Amino acid sequence: MNEKIINISLANPRGFCAGVERAILIVEEALKKYGAPIYVRNEVVHNSYVINNLKEKGAIFVNNIEKIPPGSHVIFSAHGVSKAIRVSAKKFNLISIDATCPLVTKVHNEVHRLHDDNYHIVMIGHKGHPEVEGTMGQIEKNSPKASIHLIESINDVENLPIISTEKISYVSQTTLSVDDTSKIIKSLKAKFPDIKEPKSSDICYATQNRQDAVKTMLGKQDLIFVVGSINSSNSNRLAEIANQHKVKAILIDNMDLFDQSSLKNKKNIGITAGASAPEILVQQLISEIKKVSSVRITEINGVEENIIFKLPVI
Ligand code: SF4
Repeated sequence: MNEKIINISLANPRGFCAGVERAILIVEEALKKYGAPIYVRNEVVHNSYVINNLKEKGAIFVNNIEKIPPGSHVIFSAHGVSKAIRVSAKKFNLISIDATCPLVTKVHNEVHRLHDDNYHIVMIGHKGHPEVEGTMGQIEKNSPKASIHLIESINDVENLPIISTEKISYVSQTTLSVDDTSKIIKSLKAKFPDIKEPKSSDICYATQNRQDAVKTMLGKQDLIFVVGSINSSNSNRLAEIANQHKVKAILIDNMDLFDQSSLKNKKNIGITAGASAPEILVQQLISEIKKVSSVRITEINGVEENIIFKLPVI
C-alpha cells in the first residue's frame, strides 16, 4: 500500500516584513536600554506569539495611555497613532518612542500635505483598525479646513458628502486587498474624475508581495493555511484571496488551533504567513502536519525582499 504523502508548497515571500521586524526590535532595544517594564500602546504588531514573547521580556501592552505611570517610556505601535495620542503622551509626561512603520508615516505625511492644501481626503480602510484611526487622526476633528472621510467599500463611495467640484484626493490603509482596493478606486474615479491620486500606491510592498505569492499557488492547492492572528489585517486578506478563488483557507494563530481532520483527503497544501507572523509558527505547523503524514516540501519562487528600515534613536 502506498504511504500517504502531503505536498506542502511554501509561499514566498511570507511572514515578517521590514516594518514588523523594526517594530519588534524597537521594543527589544528599549527593554535592553531602559529595563522592564516598557509600555506599548496597543499590540506593537498584530500577532499573539510576538506579543506573548515581548510580554515575557517585560513589555506591558495598554490601550489607554492614561494608565501608564508618568515618566515611563511608551512605544507607539507599527500601525501609527493619531496626533491626539502624541499630545496625550506629552500631557501625561510619558517619553515616547515611535515604532510606526515608515510606510505608514509616508501615508501620514501625504495626509498632512493634502490637508495643508485644502483637499477633502477619502481614506480607504477598515473601520476600527488602529492604522486607520492613526491616519484619520492626523487631522484634528474640528479642523476648519477640508475633511477626511473613511470608506470601506464601493457602496460607501455614493454616500460621500463631497461635491465633485471640490478638491478631492484619497489615501488608503497599507494592508488592504490590492484587488478590492483597485475596484474602490475605480468607483471613486468614476464619481470624482478629477480626484488626485497618491504618487504611488499606499498599499505597501509587503502586502502586495504576499498577496501575489498566494495567487501564484492557488491553482494547485486543496487547502491553504495562512499563519497569522485573527486581528491581523494582511493575514485576513491572504485568506480572503484564497477563498475568493474557491480554495479553502484556514487562518491559524497558534498550533492549539490545528485540527488534524482539516487534512482529510488533502494532497496539496499551501502555507503562507501574514507580515506579522514569525517563521517559527510556519515550522511548527509543518511539524504538526508531519505527525499526520509524510510530507514533500517545496519553496515556491517569489519576489526577493531586501528592504530594511533603520531603527530610530531609542
Ligand atoms: Fe509596514 Fe507594510 Fe509591514 Fe505594515 S505590512 S508594517 S505597512 S511594511
